[in-house]
Amino acid sequence: MKKLALLGGKKSVQHDPGNLFRWPIVTPEHEEAVLDVLRTGRMSGIDVSKKFEAEYAQQLGRSFALTYPSGTSAILGGFYGLGVGVGHEVIAPSLTYWASVLQVYSLGATPVFAEVDSETLCIDPRDVEQLITERTRAIVAVHYTGMPADIDALKKIADRHNLPILEDCSHAHGALYKGRPVGTLTQVAGFSLMSGKSFAIGEGGMLFTDDRKIYERAILFGHYIRDNEILDPDLQPFSGLPAGGYKHRMHQLSSAFGRVQLKYYPDQMREIDRAMNYFCDALEELAGIYPIRPRDTQNTKGGWYLPLCRYEKSELGGLSLQRFAHAIQAEGSVCHPGANTPMHLHPLFSEMDVYGHGKPTRFAHLPDTVDRSLYLRPLPVTEGLYQKLFQIPWFKQFDAKKIDEHIAAYHRVVADYKSLLPGDDGDDSRIGGFSSFFREQQTKVRPHAPGAAN
Ligand SMILES: *Cc1c(COP(=O)(O)O)cnc(C)c1O
Repeated sequence: MKKLALLGGKKSVQHDPGNLFRWPIVTPEHEEAVLDVLRTGRMSGIDVSKKFEAEYAQQLGRSFALTYPSGTSAILGGFYGLGVGVGHEVIAPSLTYWASVLQVYSLGATPVFAEVDSETLCIDPRDVEQLITERTRAIVAVHYTGMPADIDALKKIADRHNLPILEDCSHAHGALYKGRPVGTLTQVAGFSLMSGKSFAIGEGGMLFTDDRKIYERAILFGHYIRDNEILDPDLQPFSGLPAGGYKHRMHQLSSAFGRVQLKYYPDQMREIDRAMNYFCDALEELAGIYPIRPRDTQNTKGGWYLPLCRYEKSELGGLSLQRFAHAIQAEGSVCHPGANTPMHLHPLFSEMDVYGHGKPTRFAHLPDTVDRSLYLRPLPVTEGLYQKLFQIPWFKQFDAKKIDEHIAAYHRVVADYKSLLPGDDGDDSRIGGFSSFFREQQTKVRPHAPGAAN
Protein backbone atom coordinates (compact mmCIF):
# COMPACT_ATOMS: atom_id res chain seq x y z
CA MET A 1 0.00 0.00 0.00
CA LYS A 2 1.22 3.49 -0.90
CA LYS A 3 2.18 5.69 2.04
CA LEU A 4 -0.36 8.28 3.19
CA ALA A 5 0.53 11.83 2.21
CA LEU A 6 0.65 12.86 5.89
CA LEU A 7 3.40 10.27 6.37
CA GLY A 8 5.41 11.37 3.37
CA GLY A 9 3.55 9.75 0.44
CA LYS A 10 2.21 11.38 -2.71
CA LYS A 11 -1.10 13.31 -2.49
CA SER A 12 -4.31 11.70 -3.77
CA VAL A 13 -5.62 14.97 -5.22
CA GLN A 14 -3.35 16.01 -8.07
CA HIS A 15 -5.61 18.02 -10.40
CA ASP A 16 -6.04 21.76 -10.02
CA PRO A 17 -9.62 22.21 -8.74
CA GLY A 18 -10.38 24.80 -11.42
CA ASN A 19 -13.98 25.85 -10.84
CA LEU A 20 -14.91 22.81 -8.79
CA PHE A 21 -15.49 24.95 -5.67
CA ARG A 22 -16.08 28.39 -7.15
CA TRP A 23 -19.10 30.11 -5.57
CA PRO A 24 -21.12 32.06 -6.35
CA ILE A 25 -20.88 31.58 -10.09
CA VAL A 26 -20.92 35.06 -11.57
CA THR A 27 -21.96 35.32 -15.21
CA PRO A 28 -21.84 38.39 -17.47
CA GLU A 29 -25.62 38.56 -16.98
CA HIS A 30 -25.15 38.98 -13.21
CA GLU A 31 -22.51 41.64 -13.82
CA GLU A 32 -24.72 43.54 -16.23
CA ALA A 33 -27.65 43.53 -13.79
CA VAL A 34 -25.49 44.92 -10.99
CA LEU A 35 -23.85 47.49 -13.24
CA ASP A 36 -27.25 48.66 -14.42
CA VAL A 37 -28.20 49.54 -10.84
CA LEU A 38 -24.84 51.24 -10.27
CA ARG A 39 -25.06 53.30 -13.43
CA THR A 40 -28.56 54.54 -12.63
CA GLY A 41 -27.71 55.10 -8.96
CA ARG A 42 -30.71 53.13 -7.61
CA MET A 43 -28.70 51.38 -4.89
CA SER A 44 -31.01 52.54 -2.10
CA GLY A 45 -34.30 52.20 -3.95
CA ILE A 46 -36.88 49.43 -3.71
CA ASP A 47 -37.96 49.01 -7.36
CA VAL A 48 -35.45 46.22 -8.12
CA SER A 49 -36.02 44.59 -4.74
CA LYS A 50 -39.78 44.49 -5.32
CA LYS A 51 -39.27 42.70 -8.62
CA PHE A 52 -36.96 40.26 -6.89
CA GLU A 53 -39.62 39.66 -4.21
CA ALA A 54 -42.36 39.04 -6.75
CA GLU A 55 -40.23 36.66 -8.80
CA TYR A 56 -38.93 34.71 -5.82
CA ALA A 57 -42.41 34.46 -4.25
CA GLN A 58 -43.77 33.11 -7.51
CA GLN A 59 -40.93 30.60 -7.92
CA LEU A 60 -41.38 29.33 -4.37
CA GLY A 61 -45.17 29.48 -4.45
CA ARG A 62 -45.88 31.91 -1.62
CA SER A 63 -48.09 34.98 -1.51
CA PHE A 64 -45.65 37.45 0.06
CA ALA A 65 -41.89 37.91 -0.02
CA LEU A 66 -40.01 40.69 1.75
CA THR A 67 -36.35 41.52 1.07
CA TYR A 68 -33.92 42.20 3.93
CA PRO A 69 -30.28 43.27 4.29
CA SER A 70 -29.49 39.92 5.98
CA GLY A 71 -30.99 36.62 6.97
CA THR A 72 -30.66 37.74 10.58
CA SER A 73 -32.99 40.69 10.00
CA ALA A 74 -35.44 38.62 7.91
CA ILE A 75 -35.82 36.17 10.79
CA LEU A 76 -36.18 39.04 13.28
CA GLY A 77 -38.93 40.47 11.06
CA GLY A 78 -40.54 37.03 11.03
CA PHE A 79 -40.57 36.84 14.82
CA TYR A 80 -42.15 40.27 15.07
CA GLY A 81 -44.59 39.29 12.36
CA LEU A 82 -45.69 36.34 14.49
CA GLY A 83 -46.20 38.59 17.49
CA VAL A 84 -43.21 37.44 19.54
CA GLY A 85 -42.70 39.96 22.32
CA VAL A 86 -41.90 40.57 25.97
CA GLY A 87 -42.09 37.51 28.21
CA HIS A 88 -42.61 35.05 25.38
CA GLU A 89 -40.60 31.90 24.78
CA VAL A 90 -39.39 30.64 21.42
CA ILE A 91 -38.36 27.01 21.08
CA ALA A 92 -35.43 26.37 18.75
CA PRO A 93 -32.69 23.81 18.19
CA SER A 94 -29.33 24.59 19.80
CA LEU A 95 -27.28 23.08 16.96
CA THR A 96 -27.55 25.93 14.46
CA TYR A 97 -26.17 29.33 13.63
CA TRP A 98 -27.03 31.92 16.31
CA ALA A 99 -29.29 33.92 13.97
CA SER A 100 -31.92 31.19 14.02
CA VAL A 101 -33.17 32.58 17.34
CA LEU A 102 -30.83 34.98 19.18
CA GLN A 103 -32.77 37.96 17.78
CA VAL A 104 -35.63 37.26 20.19
CA TYR A 105 -33.56 38.82 22.98
CA SER A 106 -34.13 42.20 21.38
CA LEU A 107 -37.89 41.56 21.46
CA GLY A 108 -37.80 40.72 25.16
CA ALA A 109 -38.34 37.01 24.55
CA THR A 110 -36.45 33.94 25.77
CA PRO A 111 -34.98 31.21 23.59
CA VAL A 112 -35.66 27.67 24.78
CA PHE A 113 -33.42 25.00 23.32
CA ALA A 114 -34.60 21.65 22.05
CA GLU A 115 -32.60 18.58 21.13
CA VAL A 116 -31.88 17.64 17.54
CA ASP A 117 -32.47 14.30 15.90
CA SER A 118 -29.13 12.59 15.34
CA GLU A 119 -30.09 11.41 11.82
CA THR A 120 -31.43 14.70 10.44
CA LEU A 121 -29.49 17.13 12.71
CA CYS A 122 -32.77 19.08 12.89
CA ILE A 123 -35.04 19.89 15.83
CA ASP A 124 -36.37 16.69 17.39
CA PRO A 125 -40.17 16.91 17.58
CA ARG A 126 -40.13 14.34 20.38
CA ASP A 127 -38.34 16.85 22.62
CA VAL A 128 -40.52 19.85 21.79
CA GLU A 129 -43.85 19.20 23.46
CA GLN A 130 -42.49 19.03 27.01
CA LEU A 131 -40.85 22.43 26.49
CA ILE A 132 -44.10 24.21 25.73
CA THR A 133 -45.35 26.54 28.48
CA GLU A 134 -48.11 29.15 28.61
CA ARG A 135 -45.45 31.66 27.50
CA THR A 136 -44.40 29.80 24.32
CA ARG A 137 -45.16 31.88 21.27
CA ALA A 138 -43.34 30.17 18.37
CA ILE A 139 -41.22 27.20 17.33
CA VAL A 140 -38.22 27.49 15.01
CA ALA A 141 -37.43 24.68 12.58
CA VAL A 142 -34.00 25.01 10.98
CA HIS A 143 -33.36 22.87 7.93
CA TYR A 144 -29.80 22.45 9.14
CA THR A 145 -27.21 21.89 6.40
CA GLY A 146 -30.11 21.49 3.98
CA MET A 147 -31.56 18.47 5.78
CA PRO A 148 -35.32 19.01 5.87
CA ALA A 149 -36.67 19.10 9.42
CA ASP A 150 -39.58 16.77 10.16
CA ILE A 151 -42.20 19.48 9.76
CA ASP A 152 -45.23 17.15 9.75
CA ALA A 153 -44.37 15.74 13.17
CA LEU A 154 -43.59 19.22 14.47
CA LYS A 155 -46.83 20.62 13.06
CA LYS A 156 -48.92 18.03 14.86
CA ILE A 157 -47.51 19.28 18.15
CA ALA A 158 -47.62 22.95 17.19
CA ASP A 159 -51.23 22.71 16.01
CA ARG A 160 -52.27 21.03 19.24
CA HIS A 161 -50.99 24.10 21.10
CA ASN A 162 -52.00 26.62 18.46
CA LEU A 163 -48.37 27.67 17.91
CA PRO A 164 -46.83 28.90 14.65
CA ILE A 165 -43.56 27.54 13.23
CA LEU A 166 -40.89 29.71 11.66
CA GLU A 167 -38.74 27.85 9.14
CA ASP A 168 -35.11 28.98 8.96
CA CYS A 169 -34.18 28.00 5.41
CA SER A 170 -30.76 29.68 5.37
CA HIS A 171 -29.05 26.36 4.61
CA ALA A 172 -31.70 24.86 2.43
CA HIS A 173 -32.68 26.93 -0.61
CA GLY A 174 -34.51 24.59 -2.97
CA ALA A 175 -34.57 21.62 -0.59
CA LEU A 176 -37.67 19.40 -0.61
CA TYR A 177 -39.52 17.86 2.31
CA LYS A 178 -41.79 15.02 1.17
CA GLY A 179 -41.62 16.56 -2.29
CA ARG A 180 -42.66 20.04 -1.09
CA PRO A 181 -40.21 22.98 -1.08
CA VAL A 182 -38.97 24.14 2.30
CA GLY A 183 -40.02 27.71 2.98
CA THR A 184 -43.62 26.86 2.06
CA LEU A 185 -44.39 24.46 4.87
CA THR A 186 -45.27 26.73 7.80
CA GLN A 187 -46.65 30.18 8.67
CA VAL A 188 -43.43 32.06 7.91
CA ALA A 189 -39.96 31.36 6.56
CA GLY A 190 -36.67 33.27 6.67
CA PHE A 191 -33.74 32.80 4.32
CA SER A 192 -30.19 34.12 4.41
CA LEU A 193 -28.90 34.96 0.95
CA MET A 194 -25.37 35.98 1.97
CA SER A 195 -22.47 34.95 -0.25
CA GLY A 196 -21.50 31.83 1.67
CA LYS A 197 -24.97 30.27 1.38
CA SER A 198 -26.18 28.16 -1.50
CA PHE A 199 -28.43 30.89 -2.90
CA ALA A 200 -25.74 33.57 -2.72
CA ILE A 201 -26.32 37.16 -3.74
CA GLY A 202 -24.04 39.30 -1.57
CA GLU A 203 -25.52 40.22 1.79
CA GLY A 204 -29.26 39.72 1.97
CA GLY A 205 -32.23 37.87 3.34
CA MET A 206 -35.83 37.12 2.48
CA LEU A 207 -39.00 36.51 4.44
CA PHE A 208 -41.89 34.50 2.97
CA THR A 209 -45.44 34.10 4.20
CA ASP A 210 -48.98 33.65 2.93
CA ASP A 211 -50.36 35.60 5.88
CA ARG A 212 -50.99 39.27 5.13
CA LYS A 213 -50.93 40.12 8.83
CA ILE A 214 -47.42 38.71 9.30
CA TYR A 215 -46.29 40.52 6.17
CA GLU A 216 -47.70 43.86 7.27
CA ARG A 217 -46.29 43.58 10.78
CA ALA A 218 -42.86 42.82 9.31
CA ILE A 219 -43.15 45.89 7.10
CA LEU A 220 -44.21 48.07 10.02
CA PHE A 221 -41.27 46.86 12.08
CA GLY A 222 -38.47 47.81 9.70
CA HIS A 223 -39.63 48.76 6.19
CA TYR A 224 -40.81 52.29 6.92
CA ILE A 225 -41.07 53.62 3.39
CA ARG A 226 -43.54 50.93 2.38
CA ASP A 227 -46.51 52.15 4.44
CA ASN A 228 -48.72 52.10 1.36
CA GLU A 229 -48.68 48.30 1.75
CA ILE A 230 -50.04 48.45 5.30
CA LEU A 231 -53.82 48.05 5.05
CA ASP A 232 -54.65 46.66 8.49
CA PRO A 233 -56.59 49.40 10.34
CA ASP A 234 -54.90 48.37 13.61
CA LEU A 235 -51.43 48.95 12.14
CA GLN A 236 -52.17 51.81 9.75
CA PRO A 237 -52.07 54.64 12.32
CA PHE A 238 -48.52 53.62 13.29
CA SER A 239 -47.06 53.48 9.80
CA GLY A 240 -44.53 56.07 8.65
CA LEU A 241 -41.86 55.17 11.18
CA PRO A 242 -40.17 51.77 11.63
CA ALA A 243 -41.83 50.54 14.81
CA GLY A 244 -38.87 48.34 15.73
CA GLY A 245 -36.33 51.09 15.25
CA TYR A 246 -34.62 49.05 12.57
CA LYS A 247 -33.97 49.76 8.93
CA HIS A 248 -34.57 46.58 6.99
CA ARG A 249 -34.03 47.64 3.38
CA MET A 250 -32.00 45.45 1.05
CA HIS A 251 -29.15 46.91 -1.00
CA GLN A 252 -30.31 46.84 -4.62
CA LEU A 253 -26.96 45.58 -5.88
CA SER A 254 -27.90 42.42 -4.02
CA SER A 255 -31.48 42.25 -5.30
CA ALA A 256 -30.31 42.85 -8.88
CA PHE A 257 -27.88 39.97 -8.51
CA GLY A 258 -30.61 37.87 -6.91
CA ARG A 259 -33.04 38.32 -9.80
CA VAL A 260 -30.48 36.81 -12.16
CA GLN A 261 -29.58 34.12 -9.67
CA LEU A 262 -33.22 32.95 -9.61
CA LYS A 263 -32.78 31.88 -13.23
CA TYR A 264 -29.50 30.03 -12.73
CA TYR A 265 -29.99 28.47 -9.32
CA PRO A 266 -32.24 25.50 -10.18
CA ASP A 267 -29.69 24.12 -12.65
CA GLN A 268 -26.75 24.86 -10.37
CA MET A 269 -28.54 23.09 -7.54
CA ARG A 270 -29.14 19.98 -9.67
CA GLU A 271 -25.47 19.87 -10.59
CA ILE A 272 -24.40 20.21 -6.94
CA ASP A 273 -26.89 17.52 -5.90
CA ARG A 274 -25.51 15.13 -8.51
CA ALA A 275 -21.89 15.79 -7.55
CA MET A 276 -22.51 15.51 -3.82
CA ASN A 277 -24.57 12.33 -4.06
CA TYR A 278 -21.88 10.78 -6.28
CA PHE A 279 -19.28 11.63 -3.63
CA CYS A 280 -21.44 10.49 -0.71
CA ASP A 281 -22.30 7.19 -2.43
CA ALA A 282 -18.58 6.42 -2.40
CA LEU A 283 -18.05 7.61 1.19
CA GLU A 284 -20.93 5.53 2.44
CA GLU A 285 -18.94 2.34 1.72
CA LEU A 286 -16.27 3.35 4.21
CA ALA A 287 -16.03 2.29 7.84
CA GLY A 288 -16.59 5.08 10.33
CA ILE A 289 -17.97 7.62 7.80
CA TYR A 290 -21.68 8.46 7.69
CA PRO A 291 -22.74 11.09 5.15
CA ILE A 292 -25.56 13.30 6.41
CA ARG A 293 -28.18 13.13 3.68
CA PRO A 294 -31.87 12.24 3.54
CA ARG A 295 -32.87 8.56 3.46
CA ASP A 296 -36.28 9.36 2.02
CA THR A 297 -36.11 10.02 -1.74
CA GLN A 298 -38.87 12.63 -1.40
CA ASN A 299 -36.45 14.73 0.68
CA THR A 300 -33.53 16.63 -0.87
CA LYS A 301 -30.81 18.94 0.37
CA GLY A 302 -31.15 21.77 -2.16
CA GLY A 303 -27.73 23.34 -2.69
CA TRP A 304 -26.01 21.27 0.03
CA TYR A 305 -24.76 24.20 2.11
CA LEU A 306 -22.25 22.97 4.72
CA PRO A 307 -22.14 19.30 3.69
CA LEU A 308 -21.33 17.13 6.70
CA CYS A 309 -20.55 13.57 7.65
CA ARG A 310 -20.59 11.93 11.04
CA TYR A 311 -17.38 10.23 12.19
CA GLU A 312 -17.43 7.13 14.39
CA LYS A 313 -13.89 6.70 15.61
CA SER A 314 -14.58 3.36 17.26
CA GLU A 315 -14.79 1.88 13.76
CA LEU A 316 -11.29 3.17 12.96
CA GLY A 317 -9.41 1.91 15.99
CA GLY A 318 -10.19 5.06 18.00
CA LEU A 319 -8.37 7.35 15.55
CA SER A 320 -9.16 10.94 16.53
CA LEU A 321 -11.24 13.03 14.15
CA GLN A 322 -8.57 15.73 14.12
CA ARG A 323 -5.80 13.31 13.10
CA PHE A 324 -8.12 11.80 10.49
CA ALA A 325 -8.85 15.30 9.16
CA HIS A 326 -5.14 16.19 8.97
CA ALA A 327 -4.55 13.05 6.94
CA ILE A 328 -7.36 13.91 4.51
CA GLN A 329 -6.12 17.50 4.21
CA ALA A 330 -2.61 16.22 3.51
CA GLU A 331 -4.08 14.15 0.66
CA GLY A 332 -5.29 17.46 -0.81
CA SER A 333 -8.99 17.03 -0.02
CA VAL A 334 -11.31 18.86 2.38
CA CYS A 335 -12.12 17.68 5.89
CA HIS A 336 -12.91 20.22 8.63
CA PRO A 337 -13.84 18.77 12.00
CA GLY A 338 -16.87 20.18 13.74
CA ALA A 339 -19.99 22.17 12.97
CA ASN A 340 -21.72 24.97 14.88
CA THR A 341 -21.03 24.69 18.59
CA PRO A 342 -24.47 24.29 20.17
CA MET A 343 -25.65 27.72 21.30
CA HIS A 344 -26.78 26.68 24.77
CA LEU A 345 -23.13 26.10 25.71
CA HIS A 346 -22.37 29.82 25.35
CA PRO A 347 -22.58 32.03 28.49
CA LEU A 348 -24.76 34.47 26.56
CA PHE A 349 -27.56 32.01 27.32
CA SER A 350 -26.80 31.47 30.97
CA GLU A 351 -25.05 34.51 32.44
CA MET A 352 -24.84 37.62 30.34
CA ASP A 353 -26.94 40.66 31.18
CA VAL A 354 -27.01 42.26 27.74
CA TYR A 355 -29.38 45.15 28.42
CA GLY A 356 -28.83 45.95 32.09
CA HIS A 357 -31.87 44.22 33.58
CA GLY A 358 -29.80 43.27 36.59
CA LYS A 359 -30.12 39.58 35.73
CA PRO A 360 -29.18 37.36 32.81
CA THR A 361 -31.05 38.47 29.69
CA ARG A 362 -32.30 34.93 29.21
CA PHE A 363 -34.40 35.37 32.36
CA ALA A 364 -35.01 39.12 32.20
CA HIS A 365 -38.67 38.84 31.25
CA LEU A 366 -39.64 35.52 32.80
CA PRO A 367 -41.41 35.32 36.15
CA ASP A 368 -38.92 35.15 39.03
CA THR A 369 -40.58 31.91 40.08
CA VAL A 370 -39.48 29.91 37.03
CA ASP A 371 -37.11 27.05 37.66
CA ARG A 372 -34.00 28.25 35.81
CA SER A 373 -32.47 24.80 35.75
CA LEU A 374 -35.13 23.73 33.25
CA TYR A 375 -33.87 26.39 30.86
CA LEU A 376 -30.23 25.47 31.52
CA ARG A 377 -30.70 21.73 31.15
CA PRO A 378 -28.00 19.79 29.26
CA LEU A 379 -28.78 18.47 25.79
CA PRO A 380 -26.98 15.13 25.69
CA VAL A 381 -27.83 14.20 22.10
CA THR A 382 -26.75 17.57 20.72
CA GLU A 383 -23.65 17.71 22.89
CA GLY A 384 -22.61 14.20 21.93
CA LEU A 385 -23.10 14.86 18.26
CA TYR A 386 -21.48 18.10 17.19
CA GLN A 387 -17.89 17.05 17.79
CA LYS A 388 -18.38 13.97 15.63
CA LEU A 389 -19.36 16.02 12.60
CA PHE A 390 -16.98 17.10 9.89
CA GLN A 391 -17.28 19.06 6.69
CA ILE A 392 -16.59 17.36 3.38
CA PRO A 393 -15.80 19.11 0.08
CA TRP A 394 -18.72 21.14 -1.30
CA PHE A 395 -18.53 20.45 -5.03
CA LYS A 396 -20.29 22.94 -7.27
CA GLN A 397 -19.64 21.01 -10.46
CA PHE A 398 -20.07 17.39 -11.41
CA ASP A 399 -16.60 16.46 -12.69
CA ALA A 400 -16.21 12.75 -11.99
CA LYS A 401 -12.50 12.65 -12.71
CA LYS A 402 -11.72 15.38 -10.19
CA ILE A 403 -14.20 14.15 -7.59
CA ASP A 404 -12.72 10.65 -7.87
CA GLU A 405 -9.44 12.01 -6.53
CA HIS A 406 -11.23 13.27 -3.42
CA ILE A 407 -12.92 9.90 -3.06
CA ALA A 408 -9.50 8.27 -3.37
CA ALA A 409 -8.20 10.50 -0.56
CA TYR A 410 -10.91 9.31 1.82
CA HIS A 411 -10.62 5.67 0.73
CA ARG A 412 -6.88 5.69 1.19
CA VAL A 413 -6.93 7.21 4.67
CA VAL A 414 -9.65 4.83 5.86
CA ALA A 415 -7.87 1.82 4.36
CA ASP A 416 -4.61 2.72 6.07
CA TYR A 417 -5.94 4.25 9.30
CA LYS A 418 -3.73 2.00 11.42
CA SER A 419 -0.63 3.81 10.22
CA LEU A 420 -2.07 7.00 11.80
CA LEU A 421 -2.64 5.58 15.27
CA PRO A 422 0.95 6.06 16.49
CA GLY A 423 1.37 9.75 17.30
CA ASP A 424 -2.38 10.38 17.66
CA ASP A 425 -2.84 12.81 20.58
CA GLY A 426 -6.63 12.49 20.51
CA ASP A 427 -9.15 15.25 19.91
CA ASP A 428 -9.01 18.52 21.80
CA SER A 429 -11.84 20.91 22.48
CA ARG A 430 -11.19 23.09 19.46
CA ILE A 431 -13.63 21.13 17.30
CA GLY A 432 -16.39 23.41 16.02
CA GLY A 433 -16.98 27.04 16.95
CA PHE A 434 -19.86 29.43 17.57
CA SER A 435 -18.95 31.45 14.50
CA SER A 436 -15.17 31.32 14.08
CA PHE A 437 -15.68 27.91 12.49
CA PHE A 438 -17.11 29.74 9.52
CA ARG A 439 -14.50 32.48 9.54
CA GLU A 440 -11.88 29.80 9.12
CA GLN A 441 -13.76 28.31 6.19
CA GLN A 442 -13.96 31.65 4.43
CA THR A 443 -10.21 32.11 4.33
CA LYS A 444 -9.99 28.86 2.41
CA VAL A 445 -12.31 29.92 -0.38
CA ARG A 446 -10.47 30.59 -3.62
CA PRO A 447 -10.55 34.21 -4.72
CA HIS A 448 -12.99 34.87 -7.48
CA ALA A 449 -11.60 36.20 -10.74
CA PRO A 450 -13.75 39.11 -11.97
CA GLY A 451 -15.35 38.57 -15.32
CA ALA A 452 -15.15 34.78 -15.24
CA ALA A 453 -18.22 33.20 -16.82
CA ASN A 454 -18.26 30.23 -14.47
C1 LIG B 1 -26.44 32.43 7.85
C2 LIG B 1 -27.56 32.05 8.72
C3 LIG B 1 -28.48 32.97 9.22
C4 LIG B 1 -28.31 34.46 9.13
O1 LIG B 1 -28.10 34.95 7.92
P1 LIG B 1 -27.22 36.27 7.62
O2 LIG B 1 -27.58 36.56 6.20
O3 LIG B 1 -25.79 35.87 7.79
O4 LIG B 1 -27.64 37.32 8.56
C5 LIG B 1 -29.58 32.50 9.93
N1 LIG B 1 -29.72 31.19 10.18
C6 LIG B 1 -28.84 30.28 9.75
C7 LIG B 1 -29.11 28.84 10.04
C8 LIG B 1 -27.71 30.68 9.02
O5 LIG B 1 -26.82 29.77 8.64
